[in-house]
Amino acid sequence: MTTQHETGTTPHHILILGAGYAGMAAAIQLAARTKGRADVRVTLVNPRERFTERLRLHVAATGQQVAELSIPELLEGTGARFVRGWVTAVDADARTVRIDDDRVLHYDTLVYGLGSVADTVTVPGVEEHAYTLDGVQDAEALADRLARLARQGRGTVVVGGSGLTGVESAAEIAERHPELDVVLLGRQEPGAAMAARPRAYLRAALARLGVQVRGGAEVVKVLPGSVELAGGESVPADVVLWTSGTRVSPLAAAAGLTVDERGRIVTDAALRSVSHPDVYALGDAAAIRQGYGVMHGTCQGGMPTGVHAALSILRVLAGKEPRPFRFGYYHTPVSLGRNDGVVQFTHPDDSPRRVYLTGRLAARYKETVTASPWPTYGRMKKMPASGAFWPRGGRFTRVGAAG
Ligand SMILES: Cc1cc2nc3c(=O)[nH]c(=O)nc-3n(C[C@H](O)[C@H](O)[C@H](O)COP(=O)(O)OP(=O)(O)OC[C@H]3O[C@@H](n4cnc5c(N)ncnc54)[C@H](O)[C@@H]3O)c2cc1C
Repeated sequence: MTTQHETGTTPHHILILGAGYAGMAAAIQLAARTKGRADVRVTLVNPRERFTERLRLHVAATGQQVAELSIPELLEGTGARFVRGWVTAVDADARTVRIDDDRVLHYDTLVYGLGSVADTVTVPGVEEHAYTLDGVQDAEALADRLARLARQGRGTVVVGGSGLTGVESAAEIAERHPELDVVLLGRQEPGAAMAARPRAYLRAALARLGVQVRGGAEVVKVLPGSVELAGGESVPADVVLWTSGTRVSPLAAAAGLTVDERGRIVTDAALRSVSHPDVYALGDAAAIRQGYGVMHGTCQGGMPTGVHAALSILRVLAGKEPRPFRFGYYHTPVSLGRNDGVVQFTHPDDSPRRVYLTGRLAARYKETVTASPWPTYGRMKKMPASGAFWPRGGRFTRVGAAG
C-alpha cells in the first residue's frame, strides 16, 4: 500500500508528547536534524511553555528562585511546532492524540515521553493531605505552606519516602527552615544503595541539619495533622511531603500499548513499543531493558533515550535499521542543602564504586549536573551530534549480558 507520505504529498508527522528531560532531548534532536526538510514535520506537546527542571523542585519548594526556561523560544528557528496542551487520550490504531479533549492531532510516528509523577494512589490520604514535587506549582504551594509554618516559629514537616528525592528535600527544608522539625520516614535507610562511607556521610549530614531519620518505617495512611505507620503509631505532621514511589500516566495502557506491571511502555532495543513500532517510548514512561535489568527513571538515563529515539526515527525514515540503545549509569549525585552533598560514582548497572565525593565539591558537582540539561539542548540545537555522547555501559549492556 502506498502511504500519503510515500507519494510526497504530506510530510511525515513526528509527534512528541511531553517536554521533560527526555522529550526535550528528542524534540531538539529531531528539530535540529530535520530543519528545512519539507518531508518531515515535528510537533511537541506539553502543558506548559516553561520547562520544568524537576531536578530543582526540592529547591523551589523552599522558596528559592528557579529559572524561567521557555520551550517555544528554544525551538525557535527550527521549524518544530510547540502545542500547549494536556494529552487526554491516545488512539494507537487511528494514530491520533487527543489534546484537552477538544483537539485531535494525527501522527505518523509518536514519541511518548510523559514521564512520571509521585505515587499518590497507593497509600490512602496522600492524594488529599500531602504535598508532592511533580511540578513548579506543587513546589511553590509547598514553599508557601512552609514559609507560613516557619513564621509561626515551630512545626513538624514529615517527608514520606527515604529515597534520594526524600533525602534531598528533607535536607533542603531543614537547612532553609531551621525552626521546623523535619522527619524523614521510609522503608529503606537513606542512601541505601550507596557504599558504606558515602552512606555514613549522608547520614551525618542529615543529622547535622537536624533531620530526624526513621528508616524501616512504613507509612500506611496520611491524615490531616499526622501520618500513621504500620503497627499503629501516629507521627504528628503539620505538613507532609510525599516522595515515595512514582507512577506513570494510564494513557499508554488505555491505548492498548504493551506496558509492564507499572504501566510503562515496554520497548524493543531501539526504544520502539513492542506492540506498536510507530510509537517510541522515553525516560520514566518507558520500560527499557538493558543487560543489567530494566532501567529506572533518572535524568541521566532519560536524556540519552530521547536522543537515541530521535536517531532511530531518522534512520527508519531513511530506510535503515535503527541501532540498539545502550546506557550505563555513572553517578548518583545527591544535594544535602545548598553547600553540601555526596556523589556516589557507580558501575554501569548502578551498583556503587569505591569512588565518591563529599562536601562543597560534591555540592558543586551536583549543581553542574542539575544546570547542564538546558545548555545541552541549546548546544544540540546548533550541533546535534554533540548530544550523542553518553556511557554505553561496556560489558554490562552488551547483547547477551545477564539481566
Ligand atoms: C525533586 C526531584 C529531584 C530529582 N533529582 C534527580 C537527580 O538528581 N538526578 C536524576 O537523574 N533524576 C532526578 N530526578 C528524577 C528525574 O527528574 C526524572 O527521572 C526525569 O524528570 C524523567 O524525565 P522524563 O522526561 O521521562 O519525564 P518528566 O521530566 O517527568 O517530563 C514529563 C513531561 O510530560 C508532561 N506531561 C505529563 N503528562 C502529560 C499529559 N497528559 N499531557 C501533556 N504533557 C504531559 C509533564 O508536564 C512533563 O513536562 C528527580 C526527581 C524529582 C521529583
